[in-house]
Amino acid sequence: MISENLRKVEQEVQKACALASRQRESVTLVAVTKTVDLETTIEVVTNGVTDCAENRVEPFLAKKEAMKDLNVTWHFIGNLQRRKVKHVINEVDYFHALESLSLANEIQKRATKKIRCFIEVNVSGEESKQGIKPSELSSFVEQLSEFDKVEIVGLMTMAPFQSTKSEQRDVFLQLRNLQKSIEAQQLTYAPCHELSMGMSNDYTVAIEEGATFIRVGTALVKE
Ligand SMILES: *Cc1c(COP(=O)(O)O)cnc(C)c1O
Repeated sequence: MISENLRKVEQEVQKACALASRQRESVTLVAVTKTVDLETTIEVVTNGVTDCAENRVEPFLAKKEAMKDLNVTWHFIGNLQRRKVKHVINEVDYFHALESLSLANEIQKRATKKIRCFIEVNVSGEESKQGIKPSELSSFVEQLSEFDKVEIVGLMTMAPFQSTKSEQRDVFLQLRNLQKSIEAQQLTYAPCHELSMGMSNDYTVAIEEGATFIRVGTALVKE
């Protein structure tokens, strides 16, 4: 049941915040609703979740339209094909998967306002993962200076699927160090205050390591 799942996740979030001496308000719980239908997504929101994330264009647009009276902050996660940018980019509140200059180019071309973006970083170095290599991040950020529709609000990563707590911690800590180094440059187009990291398996570790947005799917929507 959603309400029971949410209660458990909320309890874990509060525990992790306490452990890390952080305020609960410093972490936004983003419910990843990509695997569930409209009805269940509405249930998540009516139980008090303010932020939802989707990873496919058509279901996202349909849910957003159907839920327009519910005051949801919408996140787009996962791979976005360039040809689909025009359908979706002005509808999202946060885009979590900026991972190439060509995608930034397309966003620049299609956006009618500034788009809040997270740069996806492939910290773990897995072949299967998309994202900018840590060693290429600073030059990537530099190249984004010419795109006035792209605002870099933070960095995003995923820990390896099957990993130990200490491996997760290591990935999250590395992302945080990268985030701090960009933030320290005080670029107007890249304030980079935020860290999008932590999923059902590892969100408590992510909070301990500074996550400001956790993206939780399974733990919230499982039966
Ligand atoms: C699916 C997905 C999540 C949620 O994963 P769970 O393990 O179900 O919590 C988070 N982030 C991204 C990028 C995803 O694709």
